[in-house]
Amino acid sequence: MKVDRIIFATGNFDKMKEIQMILDDLGLEIQSMKEAGVNIEIVEDGKTFEENARIKAEAIADELKKRGVNAVVLADDSGLEIDYLNKEPGIYSARYLGENTSYSIKNANLIERLAGVPDEKRTARFVCAIAAVFPDGKTFDTKAAIEGRIGYEEKGNNGFGYDPIFYLPEYGKYSAELTPEEKNRISHRGKALNEMKKVLKMEL
Ligand code: IMP
Repeated sequence: MKVDRIIFATGNFDKMKEIQMILDDLGLEIQSMKEAGVNIEIVEDGKTFEENARIKAEAIADELKKRGVNAVVLADDSGLEIDYLNKEPGIYSARYLGENTSYSIKNANLIERLAGVPDEKRTARFVCAIAAVFPDGKTFDTKAAIEGRIGYEEKGNNGFGYDPIFYLPEYGKYSAELTPEEKNRISHRGKALNEMKKVLKMEL
């Protein structure tokens, strides 16, 4: 199928960097919504990561279709599920305590809510669902997770969001202590996106 480029439905600069690194060898231009000149309001009212990824991808694909752009649209929806907090913040991870509240405040708040909770009950995971919509309307979905634990303080300067409080027992490191390459190899987004890359390689 003839496709000019991939447009990723996110306005998050940090995510975009991770995504561009992973999809780099597809040899297609990867643009953010902003770079593609798409600036529409999308209401993420799905109840799951999968539903929200699909809502974003379809909204952008509809808009591009009107403009006659021949692109594959990808969208992800991701977040942190903390078992002790009944999987909060989950699909509300970006909006937790308010969209504009800094992550040092969000992270401190989550640590505080887990005060006194022992290691074995601090289990958590990052989840990422990715949806693809092709110009002919075909859709594909992938999903992956990475398991870890909520730490007792922020550690590390890499990554973004909740990375500084997400401890990976298998690696003996916090997610924010991983290099971008290490994170992409093992993360929820890295795994879901690599699965989607296999689909893209077959379909394009
Ligand atoms: P989305 O843009 O609606 O998918 O929101 C995802 C939110 O989940 C982000 O803004 C972060 O708060 C959190 N999140 C998702 N992936 C990561 C990650 O790799 N590291 C840290 N936080 C993440």
